[in-house]
Amino acid sequence: VPNVEELNKFIKDSVHANQVMIWSKSYCPYCKKVKDIFQSLNQEFKAYELDLEDNGPAIQDALHKMTGQKTVPNVFVNGTRLGGCDDTERAFRDRRLQQMLNPAPSSSVDHHDLESYDYDLVVIGGGSGGLAAAKEAAALGAKVACLDFVKPSTQGTTWGLGGTCVNVGCIPKKLMHQAAILGHQLDDSRKFGWEFDDKVSFNWETLRTNIQDHIGSLNWNYRVQLRSQNVDYVNSYAQFIGPHRIKATNKKGKEQEMTAKFFLIATGGRPKMPDNIEGLRQFCISSDDLFSLPYSPGKTLVVGASYVALECAGFLAALNYDVTISVRSILLRGFDQQMAENIGAYMANHGVKFIRPCVPYKVERLEEGTPGKYRVYSKMQDSGEEVVGEYNTVLIAVGRDPCTRDLGLDTVGVQINKQGFIVAADDAEQTSCPYIHAVGDILDGKPELTPMAIQAGRLLAGRLFAGTNNKTDYTNVPTTVFTPIEYGCIGLAEEDAIAKYGQSDLEVYHSNYLPLEWTVPHKEENACYAKLICLKSQNLKVVGFHVMGPNAGEITQGFTLALKLGAKKADFDNAIGIHPTCAEIFTTLQVTKSSGQDASASGC
Ligand code: FAD
Ligand code: NDP
Repeated sequence: VPNVEELNKFIKDSVHANQVMIWSKSYCPYCKKVKDIFQSLNQEFKAYELDLEDNGPAIQDALHKMTGQKTVPNVFVNGTRLGGCDDTERAFRDRRLQQMLNPAPSSSVDHHDLESYDYDLVVIGGGSGGLAAAKEAAALGAKVACLDFVKPSTQGTTWGLGGTCVNVGCIPKKLMHQAAILGHQLDDSRKFGWEFDDKVSFNWETLRTNIQDHIGSLNWNYRVQLRSQNVDYVNSYAQFIGPHRIKATNKKGKEQEMTAKFFLIATGGRPKMPDNIEGLRQFCISSDDLFSLPYSPGKTLVVGASYVALECAGFLAALNYDVTISVRSILLRGFDQQMAENIGAYMANHGVKFIRPCVPYKVERLEEGTPGKYRVYSKMQDSGEEVVGEYNTVLIAVGRDPCTRDLGLDTVGVQINKQGFIVAADDAEQTSCPYIHAVGDILDGKPELTPMAIQAGRLLAGRLFAGTNNKTDYTNVPTTVFTPIEYGCIGLAEEDAIAKYGQSDLEVYHSNYLPLEWTVPHKEENACYAKLICLKSQNLKVVGFHVMGPNAGEITQGFTLALKLGAKKADFDNAIGIHPTCAEIFTTLQVTKSSGQDASASGC
């Protein structure tokens, strides 16, 4: 005969040991419903299946006596009884459950009552992360304002609502990349039977105007969306002036103060324009200016060797401009260096000139005009040799500075590092000030990518205003470098995999491949390349995915799911290819690097 006191103690201990305790029966559909609710909230729970335990009936009796409820499920949250299935569903619907699971940190309230703030959330920055968070928070019933203000570039360029991606990043870049691809395909098309006059010309003004028109419509749509979703949009520059308080200054200098319970900093970054290159700030442009440049750029020097530099140099060269890249050290720091060098070789093959390793130190103007003419003095980093060149446009792409220095962050105790990036205090994008969060490009050590900022903004709003627990997963983030031949990757670069796991634990499968559509125009046989980096100790789990070829971005997006789900090499082998595509190469990779066998393309 079970000891009643012991049973009661077991029930109480279980309830206190588990944030969510469900007294359940394994076959009961109502019990399944409540488990599904907690799973949808990513909330761990302990389910004690009474039908599977010897003491189950006795516990059910004890629960009946203790709670007055005879049936299952009998649900407890944070030591308090919630009730049965209907009670749990109701609490979930009216968000009481989410609040029970995740009460707002008391420190964030700062002795104010919610009612005494102007807003529940003020978002600073109307770019990828800020807009996503503002819209999601408003949809969850929060009172939200979003401030966005663009300071002019060194050349005086400004733009509308939407941030870097929309105005001076992903969108105009991808459209110019498309213009470049069309240029390449024009050449190919003759081999496919198209006939047209020999003289084909390219018009920069047409491309720029059409892209800027599209961006204008996006700016407008964002404003409409904010209005229709009840987010107050304020076109002003924000600075913290006290706890829970900012000052917003518009372009006419008019100031307005606002208070909020929570703040989100999503102010992104702007191109670095280093002072140590004489003449740079007067005469050079950055990616902030290129996409709306009112004149054709002409002969161009691109300084820098990462994403922005290579992508811009790539499309300019494909649009028939004379392009030189000044590379300080390596290409695409942080990326797999075999892939980076492959891209460099392809670009060099397609007319881009590289000066390497080289750093400019002075730019002087020879002629005014649109474009003007500039002389650039540089030094080779190995030989010390002086290099002098003349260009119509000098594009500086040497990295980006986070926009945090002018925000009054010291007033509210938000910590930044030496480079100005915000150091998150936890894995939930909270800063060192508990009521201020940060997402996007300004976060230290996180990928500076649009979808990353959007995901972080959306999930943060859910945690603040719906009591959810979902945190942004910053691992296995896919990315693509949109050079004319695209390069997509997920996970580790080969050198990083070696550093992390050791060479002896890796098996690298690789192959060049020839897209079918490249055969008729007789394009390079071995320019495209695929590589999987696998861990021997984990059943050949794939920890690095790399592909270079047409539409590598599309291919990489598809395979992201596989890596997220922990795919092994055998899973890739078991997947049936789609023929004839480029992506099917990943279902037939046989050659390992360690075998030393030839990985050249072997026909279609
Ligand atoms: P942003 O989008 O930069 O938005 C920040 C906003 O805050 C800006 O409008 C800024 O003016 C405003 N602001 C700043 N300070 C204040 C203040 N004090 N008050 C009010 N407003 C303020 N990513 C990809 O995923 N794919 C790509 O293909 C890609 N291509 C890119 C190409 C280029 C040339 C560049 C430069 C970037 C590219 N990126 C790409 C990166 C992507 O654009 C960024 O990761 C993304 O825009 C970051 O979003 P965010 O919300 O952090 O900031
Ligand atoms: P990065 O910080 O990635 O790279 C900076 C580059 O500039 C490096 O090649 C660096 O060389 C070089 N450099 C730095 N200082 C100097 C100097 N004084 N003189 C000469 N060269 C110098 O910057 P990006 O602007 O290219 O990219 C910023 C971020 O934007 C990326 O991390 C990416 O997340 C995002 N982005 C994403 C894109 C996409 O998804 N397709 C496209 C474009 C940007 P060194 O290696 O020697 O330090």
